[in-house]
Amino acid sequence: MKRNLPVSIPSANPPRPRPSFPANLSSSVQPVVGKSHGGSAPKASVVAGVASAGEKLPRASAQRPAVSSGMGMDSQAVRAAMVRKLQAQGLAHPAVLAALSSVERHRFVDSALANQAYEDTSLPIGLGQTISKPNVVARMLELMCQGRTQKLGRVLEIGTGCGYQAALLSHLAREVYSIERLRGLHDRARENLRWFRLSNLHLLFGDGMLGYAQGAPYAAIIAAAGGNDIPQVWIDQLAVGGRLVAPARTETGHQNLVVIDKSDTGIVRTVLEPVLFVPLKSGVA
Ligand code: SAH
Repeated sequence: MKRNLPVSIPSANPPRPRPSFPANLSSSVQPVVGKSHGGSAPKASVVAGVASAGEKLPRASAQRPAVSSGMGMDSQAVRAAMVRKLQAQGLAHPAVLAALSSVERHRFVDSALANQAYEDTSLPIGLGQTISKPNVVARMLELMCQGRTQKLGRVLEIGTGCGYQAALLSHLAREVYSIERLRGLHDRARENLRWFRLSNLHLLFGDGMLGYAQGAPYAAIIAAAGGNDIPQVWIDQLAVGGRLVAPARTETGHQNLVVIDKSDTGIVRTVLEPVLFVPLKSGVA
């Protein structure tokens, strides 16, 4: 029977002010406000701004109430229970499980949903989008890390959403670029992630269908939204020896998890289990 795990939520502790981190790519991407390019277009496939997740928030996006307050020491125990359940379901990659035990998922959802943060359920994150179930996130990360014992090099995530998976990725890779097409979620993710001070995570606002050429080639590309096909540009931006994990519509007519391995002899595409991800859309909003 499904029940809420006992979690105590102490009163909001405003996060300590954090120093800002320099955005490594600010020289290669010119921030552009709004949907269209102004003046000289950046060479990037991303239309606007790049910011490290530790960067200070602009005032305008600080209007969301402090939802992500601490749950106290209890959250560690609840997270450990979540990881044990994932292990019982067969998930086993040590680095992925370690990341899942350390990243506080409740900081990425609205305070009203915080007591469900460690259940195996997807949750709304605003603007019609959802944070995937922990076991789906774990499965994708495990596929990404399969056969690897070292941290991955550079990784690209399509669909930052609330930033939860991006935070996990920052534990598994040396450098992470995460793109979101919805300005509201991009800002919210930055706000959620500020607490974690992840200087190897770079948040981008733009159309992830175009990938992010400046960071290429990537050791891995992981998408949290599914389209009719895998954009060729993602495969082009994948390093030889790299792996892409994404939901996509397949010959079955359904959305499946698809893995693409790139080697110097070509591409191997593997279709895995059916999944249900939000749609991959082009453009920004
Ligand atoms: N990894 C996220 C999951 C968010 S849901 C998390 O942990 O919360 C998928 C996200 O993909 C949504 O926020 C949606 O807006 C975004 N998305 C869809 N199409 C996109 C595109 N072309 N480029 C970038 N983001 C996209």
